[in-house]
Amino acid sequence: MDTAPVEPTSPPAPTEPGGWPAPFVARPRPAPAETHFQADVLKHVTDAIIALDLEGRVTYWNAGAERLHGLLAERVLGRLLSDCVQYAILPDPDEDLPATRVADARAAIRHAADGSGDLIYSAPDGQRRVVSVSTSVLLDDRGAEQGMLALVRDVSVQREMAAGLRHQALHDGLTGLPNRILFSARIERALERGAPCAVLFVDLDRFKGINDTLGHDTGDLLLTTIAERMLEVMDPSGVVARLGGDEFGVLVPGPPERALEVAEQLIERISTPVNVGPRTITPRASIGVVVHAERYADSMSPLRDADTAMYEAKRLGQGHVAVFDQAMHESAAFRFGLEHDLRHAIRADQMRLRFQPIIDLETGTVVGFEALVRWQHPELGLVEPSEFVPIAEEIGVVPDLDRWVLRQAIAELSAWPEAEAHHTVNVNCSVQGFLQDDFASHAAAAVREAELAPHRLIFELTERTFVDPVAAQATLNALHGHGLGLCIDDFGAGYSSLALLHTLTVDSLKIDRSFVADLADSHTARAVVRAVVQLSTDLNLKAVAEGIETPEQLATLRHIGCRYGQGFLFSKPVDATEARAMITAPPWRTSWRRWEQTPAP
Ligand code: C2E
Ligand code: MG
Ligand code: MG
Repeated sequence: MDTAPVEPTSPPAPTEPGGWPAPFVARPRPAPAETHFQADVLKHVTDAIIALDLEGRVTYWNAGAERLHGLLAERVLGRLLSDCVQYAILPDPDEDLPATRVADARAAIRHAADGSGDLIYSAPDGQRRVVSVSTSVLLDDRGAEQGMLALVRDVSVQREMAAGLRHQALHDGLTGLPNRILFSARIERALERGAPCAVLFVDLDRFKGINDTLGHDTGDLLLTTIAERMLEVMDPSGVVARLGGDEFGVLVPGPPERALEVAEQLIERISTPVNVGPRTITPRASIGVVVHAERYADSMSPLRDADTAMYEAKRLGQGHVAVFDQAMHESAAFRFGLEHDLRHAIRADQMRLRFQPIIDLETGTVVGFEALVRWQHPELGLVEPSEFVPIAEEIGVVPDLDRWVLRQAIAELSAWPEAEAHHTVNVNCSVQGFLQDDFASHAAAAVREAELAPHRLIFELTERTFVDPVAAQATLNALHGHGLGLCIDDFGAGYSSLALLHTLTVDSLKIDRSFVADLADSHTARAVVRAVVQLSTDLNLKAVAEGIETPEQLATLRHIGCRYGQGFLFSKPVDATEARAMITAPPWRTSWRRWEQTPAP
């Protein structure tokens, strides 16, 4: 028998996960037929396969390499790879860096094969291809290093898709600006660098109103215009991002003075009028600034503080800039605590109801009450509604609060004896609560269950309720249909009071306290009150003057013919027992005669 050693049959090159060949191993030289077969296989592989000798000369260049590089094998075989092709290193997609060219193609291949990322190859036809590379060491029969085998795969399509998805995930669809996630990452990187920088929180003023009244297309147009304007102001070293809705973030590298300069420029640039169809809108923004943001430990904190400063800017009016400071931090922390406590306050039975009498100014008798809420805070004591109602609105608990007030007020009223059964109670109603779908049916059911005549319950609504008159009208009609009373509160304090009277069906209006306060000294205030009283008479509405504090104000109102009023002159808001006692024994009874004789100024 022929005992010649059997040539091991070589199985196809094993692959590792991902399809790359396992490291090249030295093994017995294949038989000629096998060599032929392997050469044939390599020819048909779509990836580029390149073999280099120890000096970097090309010893093998398959058809895939020809296709990828646009270079025939005969042009490269035997030449140094670096003389034939050039690769550039593709930076991490998180870094906004240009690709770096590497002169030595072999070094680039090694770099990429180390797992350091992809390469870019610019083909002679001008197209850029992103390639990933893996390499193996070529050994000769004796196991000595003979060169390098590189497998170069065109991954342009996959990387482009990945980049597209990445872009989508990190950018805002409307403006194309970085979104909140990418903005946070950018801040994070700035913090790592530690160089001075500032974070700006930009919020458009009254944007919601524009969106609600002029429609979302107009809102979108305004947002894209403002995004472009912000980019014009900011140089490429900074970042402009859309954080959501009408909120934008800006990262400004450099000292505090630079941040303030940018903030002022943004205010000015944003407020250039924009033409939207036949209208011209003058947008405004409020900006909160955190300087020395590099001192923060994480990206969320400067953004949160810039947001706090932005609220301070809003308090100053439209188009203002506020820089975050320690006092703001404390008030934000206090507010955060209030927010937290407020969420539990109703269930914890910490709300209290007070009643302020509404008086017939002809006779000095009580006709009804306004229910006003207070918060008995376990540590802070009695908190006024001006402090917590706006917070309740912001965190969305105000509808619950209003419903609590409604139930309480009705319970109180229905407990009063028959003799007092014609008095009314006014309850204040927030926009959020009013716009809830079941608001009218809930109120009607509550009145029905308590067997209360519906006209004895009067809802006080401010003009803010009617920003979207169509949405409000349905609820208004329903309330009216149930026979419940409706009153416009703070009449004259807003911009559209007269227009409201024209379109809405209400029973009474409350003349805003600011006019009553000025009655004695201001001819204009007197003229306004006189006009409003005349108007209510003509429209068959009850006019109630708010905030009567002096006998002179009372005398003027009586002189003008305003029939109803409330104010500290008569009584502050008091608890239910005291309120009820006022019906039969008003504490102002002894003063009434004197007041009646006070001459109107
Ligand atoms: P408002 O509805 O206009 O209530 C009248 C406010 O004027 C009350 O303040 C009342 O105490 C005050 N006031 C009455 N007479 C005088 C006066 O002669 N001089 C002065 N300087 N003030 C007078 P209050 O109770 O602090 O309520 C403030 C606002 O909070 C209310 O204004 C109302 O908008 C809101 N509010 C109160 N209770 C509720 C409630 O249950 N729900 C909702 N959504 N808002 C409420
Ligand atoms: Mg009111
Ligand atoms: Mg009022």
